[in-house]
Amino acid sequence: MSSLSQNNKPYDYIIVGAGLFGAVIAYRAIKAGKRVKVIDRRSHIGGNLYCQDVDGVAVHCYGPHIFHTSNREVWQFVNSIVEFIPYINSPIANYCGKLYNLPFNMNTFYQLWGVTSPIEAEKIINTQREQSSITTPQNLEQQAIALVGTDIYQTLIKGYTEKQWGRSCTELPPEIIRRLPVRFTFDNNYFNDTFQGIPAGGYNLFIERLLEGSEIETDCDFFDHRELFEAQAKCIVYTGELDRYFDYCHGALEYRTLRFETKRVEQKSYQGVAVMNYTDSTTPYTRAIEHKHFDSSCRANHSIITYEYPEEWKIGREPYYPINDSRNNLIADKYRQLALQCKDVIFGGRLAEYRYYDMHHIVEKALSIEL
Ligand code: UDP
Repeated sequence: MSSLSQNNKPYDYIIVGAGLFGAVIAYRAIKAGKRVKVIDRRSHIGGNLYCQDVDGVAVHCYGPHIFHTSNREVWQFVNSIVEFIPYINSPIANYCGKLYNLPFNMNTFYQLWGVTSPIEAEKIINTQREQSSITTPQNLEQQAIALVGTDIYQTLIKGYTEKQWGRSCTELPPEIIRRLPVRFTFDNNYFNDTFQGIPAGGYNLFIERLLEGSEIETDCDFFDHRELFEAQAKCIVYTGELDRYFDYCHGALEYRTLRFETKRVEQKSYQGVAVMNYTDSTTPYTRAIEHKHFDSSCRANHSIITYEYPEEWKIGREPYYPINDSRNNLIADKYRQLALQCKDVIFGGRLAEYRYYDMHHIVEKALSIEL
């Protein structure tokens, strides 16, 4: 791999990407007395967790992030870095101007059908399920109808999902929708996890603490100096796109990207909730985020709203979501095989594993890697 012998290399680890996976690995490596350099092609650290302070409002620049996990070890770890303030995510769905609670729960069923008891709601859903006669769901549409019936699928899932993924629900894998809870209680908590919160002081502080002791270089693309970096480190921790690492030799993987439009309003509260999902197909954006509601200590008199527009990814744009359909998964598997053969490289994170991970998955993974 290099002209320098392993022992003469200036770094034990060069970490490519200063996002969550890279930062947790950096933290652990520094604690173990290793020499660590972290590089990132962006001009800042934190990856998609990065926030910008706009006159006292922390703006989640790459989409909203709420940490949630049922893994006590993961929760204790993140809280050992910075205290996480409990926060319950309770988004609202807006379908053609009518509002519904999420995730799918008794409040939603009442708003849709006027039913006031779980038995009535289950009866409606079961009737719709039976009419669709789906036994083993083969795609997202079938999975959604099998979970919650056709009314909810049409009102709260189809439009949102097709905007988000740029594909028909019949072409998408069923797993995507299994992320969302369905409950027969009046409970608007979007996640089922035991622990949920947002770091006190913000995500930037959380990442800065994780990276303490590491040498950091931003505005630095690994691929511009690949040979140099490989010669300088005993081990590369790679968190960028999996296909790019192997020079697209098995073809390019597909991703979804996001375009954000952000506006400032001179109002204390604009939409009254942090996350509003637009589930109809005519509204061009999927979500409107009112950032200040993530932070109960925010005292700003103004508010910042971001509209999210999912778009097709092409080289040069930010890849946000892997599209884990069968074609892409086949290609990704070939790259994963190649990755297994790279003995001095650790691949981790949403992009390098090409998996639709949440933050807790990333931390769990980064804590489990042998360093
Ligand atoms: N989804 C939906 N309606 C909503 C919210 C989500 O149909 O109002 C579906 C959509 O297919 C999405 C998936 O559920 O891709 C997972 O949503 P989640 O909120 O977990 O997405 P993320 O926060 O990762 O963008």
